[in-house]
Amino acid sequence: MKSHNSINFSVLGGGGEVGANCFQLSCNGYRILLDCGTHPKKDGLECLPSLDLINRPPDAYFVSHGHVDHCGALPYLCKQFAGLRGYTTVPSASIIERMLHNSVVVMEMLAKERGIEGYPLFDHYDVGYTMRFLETRKFNEPFSFCEGFDAQAEFIPAGHVLGSTSILLRLPGHTILYTGDISQTRQYLIGGCASPGKDIKIDTLIIESTLGATNDENNGTYDDEIHRLATAIRNVLNGGGCALIPSFALGRTQEIVNIIAQLQEEGELPFTPIYTVGLGRAVYEIYNKFSEYLHPEATFRPLSRFERLGNVWDQSVVQNLLRRPSVIVATSGMMTQNTPSALLAETMVKSSHHGIFFVGYLDPDTLGYKLLNATPGTALQFESSHPPVEVTLENIAQYRFSAHASRSQLASVIQQIKPKNIIYVHGDPDALDWMQENTNNGATTFAPVAGQTVTIEI
Ligand SMILES: [Zn+2]
Ligand SMILES: [Zn+2]
Repeated sequence: MKSHNSINFSVLGGGGEVGANCFQLSCNGYRILLDCGTHPKKDGLECLPSLDLINRPPDAYFVSHGHVDHCGALPYLCKQFAGLRGYTTVPSASIIERMLHNSVVVMEMLAKERGIEGYPLFDHYDVGYTMRFLETRKFNEPFSFCEGFDAQAEFIPAGHVLGSTSILLRLPGHTILYTGDISQTRQYLIGGCASPGKDIKIDTLIIESTLGATNDENNGTYDDEIHRLATAIRNVLNGGGCALIPSFALGRTQEIVNIIAQLQEEGELPFTPIYTVGLGRAVYEIYNKFSEYLHPEATFRPLSRFERLGNVWDQSVVQNLLRRPSVIVATSGMMTQNTPSALLAETMVKSSHHGIFFVGYLDPDTLGYKLLNATPGTALQFESSHPPVEVTLENIAQYRFSAHASRSQLASVIQQIKPKNIIYVHGDPDALDWMQENTNNGATTFAPVAGQTVTIEI
């Protein structure tokens, strides 16, 4: 017999790793899912969370934001549970729709070119079906989400990307806050996360831990990093080279192109073209549509200010592009093989006058991490059908523009909230260990991995 006095939290993905985030809460016989993403480093059925652990249709789901590690498996989920209702913020719904349609295109291409089993996991029709049942709610307005269930949810700005939210759940006798991905720093376009009202007592905090293993004692401010990056780019452009900035299509791209444009307008950088790729441009239009959600002091430029990057799978396009100084902001942010940033880097690393500047978190298993740590002469493979290329370029660096809270910020979130229980998720094992040891604030802590269930007594 299930006790009415406990809540079960099960990890389907995103526990013990930064993976396919998907968590299930069970309370009084009701089941709620928090996020349902795909694993950024896996392909085919492997990239899904363990949805087979769901043994009864969920009653509702919530999505924190549009990065695919949080929303990429939603159409697969909704195919299995017809009519399953979900909730997210107004801008996130538009972003999620765009990201999921893009996933279909990518999966269809990978199925054709590399024969990946199981791809596509869903099609454009499934995305449309998912969107029909995905409802939007405003920030800071509590709402009921499940008929007959005496519970309310509320969205609280998470400061990560446009529309990103933390999810506050007032369940019978117990209040839970799931942070999703958060940042306290005011970025160029997005203000920092809001804290839940002072009068709200959080019993259980489910908190991301991405940067738990990253020492931030000597971190400069966001502005310091902008000027460090500006100096690096200026040196490259003045030397006749191109600066490549690998960036996520959602969030980092919109931030960075506006920062570069501002630096040009202030005379800190020469006026060269700023290139962006297709998905980053599509998301840019959504930022434009929902610009009232951006920081009020941010200058958001029209998309026409930025050039469209051509087909970088065509070598002549790359050769032409790299002939004249420019700043190129291209996906993927971690430089996954076979993406525009990898294709460009493949040519750029053969010369010494370009620069490659990472501006976000790099997973140690990624090509970006390997390139950042490569010694001259290391050979790396940028495209799976091409032979490895020897790295001559030395001007490769990383700048701290993360849209994730630093570990001191995460610790301060915990100190403010003072929860009774803390569940650490969305972090590598080192990050989770550090967080559990150094930020627990006397709470009962958990860091469950996929397949594990934590029981919280009310
Ligand atoms: Zn994210
Ligand atoms: Zn994430």
